[in-house]
Amino acid sequence: MPAFQTSPGMRDILPGDSARWRRLNGVFAEVVEAAGYGQIITPLLEDIGVFTRIGDATDVVTKEMYDFVDKGDRHISLRPEMTASVCRSFAQHRPTLPWKVWYSGSNFRYEKPQRGRFRQFDQVGIEVLGVEDANLDVEVIALASEFYRRLGLSRIRLIVNSLGEPEDRARYVEALDAHFAQADLSEQARATLAKNPLRVLDSKRGEDAVAIASAPRIGDFYSEAASEHFATVCSGLTRLGIAFEVEPKLVRGLDYYRRTIFEFQGETLDSAQNALGGGGRYDGLVEALGGPATPGIGFALGVDRTLLACDDEGVFADDTADLDAFVVDVVDGTHALELTAELRAAGLTGDRGYDNRSMKAQMKLANRSGARFALIVGDDEASNGTVVVKPMARDGGDQQNIDRTDLISHLKDKLRNQR
Ligand code: AMP
Repeated sequence: MPAFQTSPGMRDILPGDSARWRRLNGVFAEVVEAAGYGQIITPLLEDIGVFTRIGDATDVVTKEMYDFVDKGDRHISLRPEMTASVCRSFAQHRPTLPWKVWYSGSNFRYEKPQRGRFRQFDQVGIEVLGVEDANLDVEVIALASEFYRRLGLSRIRLIVNSLGEPEDRARYVEALDAHFAQADLSEQARATLAKNPLRVLDSKRGEDAVAIASAPRIGDFYSEAASEHFATVCSGLTRLGIAFEVEPKLVRGLDYYRRTIFEFQGETLDSAQNALGGGGRYDGLVEALGGPATPGIGFALGVDRTLLACDDEGVFADDTADLDAFVVDVVDGTHALELTAELRAAGLTGDRGYDNRSMKAQMKLANRSGARFALIVGDDEASNGTVVVKPMARDGGDQQNIDRTDLISHLKDKLRNQR
């Protein structure tokens, strides 16, 4: 065992896997940038107050933050999510409205590590500030949906709900509180009830099922404006051909959520980690962070779980491209130095052997690299200014001796014919 290993819940993403991560990010960027979203990169560390504003009824804030006092006596935290940072940034810079941004990066939560649940995990997401229009809610949901479609995922379930206006929600919470106060609940659900009655609806414990099934429904508390907004969202999704289910028990964590909320679930994953991502409309967060009252909506999608879903559906495999060429220099290594630089400058991909190893050892490396051609330089080639071009595929044809000056154009022709 080496002296040091990654801490619990932390991982190295190694080559191969990391290529998939980067491609996933690329697909996401393409989808959202085509819709007018610009990337925002916020610091990993923020004043802890940025996150405590999210609400004190969520575990993310009360139990799972990586917070500490820095050398300047500031109480700071590693970000557990990105919505709050985006709202802090908005309040700080006051950009023109609407502000459409996307992000990608790591978050930190001190959770119990398990499959699909880590202490450092990545999300991609978007936030839009300054728009009330229900058509935006549809756009936001449609973009997440399009992202999954482009990855090749099809077994994704979209559930949506509306929490109504803040007043509707407040009346609903009161009714829920009264209902659950009389009901038979688990000890954990009782503790949740004291903090946030809405979150009791999230309980997956069997003892709470009866009380939850008979609980009042949010739909009965909507004001006219809230009903209309939600109806527009639902009809917009239908218009775009996006399948969804209305789930009245969906509440989600943030205390600031209002109106539309939604979640994407991977049908191939276990229920403990089947939430691939989600989001919703929020109010008041920008204000709480010192900005003007501004409506917001967004989502965050977990990268790890999305990749698990891709594994399950056999899509979006690692298809890292093979190298074009591998240079085997058995003279002194300087030919390989020049040739690899030439290849790369010409837009081709190439690697080489080092340490003046034997022809056999270097050919083994060339094989393992998956390169299409080996470029071999021995004493003869070095003295007459040529290179042996050897196709690595079994049926790739015979090797040829090519003039150094013709090498790049020859290789490009060969590669074109191979593809
Ligand atoms: P949340 O910010 O809690 O709404 O989470 C959004 C998505 O991020 C979830 O649906 C997960 O896919 C992912 N996620 C949240 N927490 C973790 C975690 N500890 N490990 C891995 N992924 C996570």
